[in-house]
Amino acid sequence: MSQIKFFKGESLPLEMHKVRIIQKLNLIPLEERKQAMAEAGFNTFLLRNRDVYLDMLTDSGVNAMSDLQLAAMMKADDSYAGSETFYKLEAKLQELFGTEYFLPAHQGRACENIISRVFVKPGSVVPMNYHFTTTKSHITLNGGRVEEVFTDEALRITSNHPFKGNMDIDRLVALIKETGAENIPFVRMEAGTNLIGGQPFSLENLRQVRRVCDEYDIMLVLDASLLADNLYFIKQREESCRGMSIREITRAMAELCDIIYFSARKLGCARGGGICTDRADLADKMREFVPLYEGFLTYGGMSVREMEALTVGLEETMDEEMINQGPLFIKYMAEKLEKLGIPVVTPPGGLGCHVDAMAFVDHIPQEQYPAGALAAAIYIASGVRGMERGTMSEQRNEDGSETLSNMELVRLALPRRVFTLSQVDYAVDRLAWLYENRKLIGGLTFVEEPKVLRFFFGRLAPVTDWPDVLVKKFREDFGDSL
Ligand SMILES: *Cc1c(COP(=O)(O)O)cnc(C)c1O
Repeated sequence: MSQIKFFKGESLPLEMHKVRIIQKLNLIPLEERKQAMAEAGFNTFLLRNRDVYLDMLTDSGVNAMSDLQLAAMMKADDSYAGSETFYKLEAKLQELFGTEYFLPAHQGRACENIISRVFVKPGSVVPMNYHFTTTKSHITLNGGRVEEVFTDEALRITSNHPFKGNMDIDRLVALIKETGAENIPFVRMEAGTNLIGGQPFSLENLRQVRRVCDEYDIMLVLDASLLADNLYFIKQREESCRGMSIREITRAMAELCDIIYFSARKLGCARGGGICTDRADLADKMREFVPLYEGFLTYGGMSVREMEALTVGLEETMDEEMINQGPLFIKYMAEKLEKLGIPVVTPPGGLGCHVDAMAFVDHIPQEQYPAGALAAAIYIASGVRGMERGTMSEQRNEDGSETLSNMELVRLALPRRVFTLSQVDYAVDRLAWLYENRKLIGGLTFVEEPKVLRFFFGRLAPVTDWPDVLVKKFREDFGDSL
């Protein structure tokens, strides 16, 4: 994106790329959308993509690739062991992060599996700026516990704090003293903090966390899945980093961490993942799990084509005009919604535009999953598929009671370089209609509820016939429009 000034009218985010491959989309009629939502158990994860107009579920594995990435895929070196493609990727990561060792894995959670198996023991406590669903599940599966050490700003929906993803340093120190450093295998910092709306932490905050880790001899682990957004925000918002290039900021962050892992479904616009470290002792401990769970050490479950695309994608991530596309589109969308009075997370972060369901449908109790209900209503009203990030995404407590989420968000992800501004405008328009008619939206209840990661494949039903009421009102307002 370029920061061009416009002569007339408001300035718009201006693309520094053109679209050369397209994929046909369908917008199926309203009644069919209601039917599809019912068949999907009111869980947007269970919708079939053919029934979706704009897929804003996630940015995972759906960012658009560049011509250079696609071209690179054609010259991949196909071999089980010792593929040249692997060495290219390894060299790129060594160059960007300055880390010697790279353990490939098939995606981000696979890295979490390996790291948790090696370092988390029953009774372990892992402090982090905020949890992520798969991270928490792997840590708890290994008998550990997650402690979130966010600042008061993190949970403020509307804020102008530039770094809501920061860790609270005083609380971190207090937690270490209370828990005992020996029970803390590592501190985890998540770039572009996913579940609070793609919010960044500052480089200064990471430095402070490092100092505490040094003092208590604890490892620092960086989840770099959403690093691209965080890099852009550091460059934009952190005064002391103004003069640094994206490459320099990347290196400065990496040098503070003992282990860096990432999902290449997000970082590098490809598919896959991996763990980087400069410490031979740590690489040794984790290495054996790669062939056991992922694949041989020179592919780790990734296809060689994806590794080629990732190598190029990582290099492209060092270009500010590339990594600002997501954040600038998200800012455009969030500001339009805000002007219409629709509650969204501010400042706009990375990853997607986050609608505050707690305020949007404040008549729905948290036990009836307001964010899940709103996501279902958005799909019915527009064919846009968002993701629930609230109580449905939590796990029940041992006694069966709900863990009520701090926030009830519907994430409307804007995968990088995929949608046009008119598509974003359409989504904004349908959200505006839904907001006017928000009282028609009702809650949901589980009819099939898995114990682990229930939000992925659990099935729900509306507590009343609200979807029918919503459809009827839509017809009154829009006639026979789709
Ligand atoms: C997506 C994500 C993961 C998990 O990565 P997958 O490739 O989906 O397994 C881990 N951490 C963060 C912050 C993520 O956004």
